[in-house]
Amino acid sequence: MRILLVEDEKKIARFIERGLRAHHYVVDIAYTGEGGRDLAEINPYDLMILDIMLPGKDGITICRELREHKVDTPILMLTAKSAVSEKVLALQSGADDYLVKPFSFEEFLARVAALMRRKRIEKTSLLQVRDLVIDQVTHKVFKADKEIFLTSKEYTLLEYLMLNADQVVTRIMISEHVWNEDFDSLSNLIDVFIKQLRNKIDPERKESFIHTIRGTGYILKSKLE
Ligand code: CA
Repeated sequence: MRILLVEDEKKIARFIERGLRAHHYVVDIAYTGEGGRDLAEINPYDLMILDIMLPGKDGITICRELREHKVDTPILMLTAKSAVSEKVLALQSGADDYLVKPFSFEEFLARVAALMRRKRIEKTSLLQVRDLVIDQVTHKVFKADKEIFLTSKEYTLLEYLMLNADQVVTRIMISEHVWNEDFDSLSNLIDVFIKQLRNKIDPERKESFIHTIRGTGYILKSKLE
């Protein structure tokens, strides 16, 4: 899952980024509202975290502009004030939730996960395809009830493939949801990670979860073929 963080205070931005990365999220940071809005209009983020107090245009204005431009990414607003009027303003501008600074990282993570879930209908944190199960809260992965240990990037890639099971995901879609702005489109990183993932979830190749669609991308199949 790829998140855009818009926060001008570098220390806070780095703190949040580190925490999110530790939980397998892919993060891009913008330090100004305009910068954040531009990135949000180009990239298909799964969630946006938007600080209200920003130099230039504030978070409320940016949020309103994004909604006017039909960007429907879930938005979590960060506010330094606990005044009711500011919270109301945040929600009225089109934000889905807000959090008052300073906040506990645990609560922050819970809200991030809840907003991502809201996009889907399921209320459970478990995602299952055949005997492959991932827990989107604990980030644990199980194959036939046995735990499999994935790296952060492998986890994010598998989660994305499972969320889009039985649909072809192109290399561009993968690069946009599993990597951030630093991704080099000429590299073969996606192939490398797909290979690693196949070795871990399907070492004996008795069945094939991840199929290659030549010249296009990949598909994770929910039925054994
Ligand atoms: Ca700020």
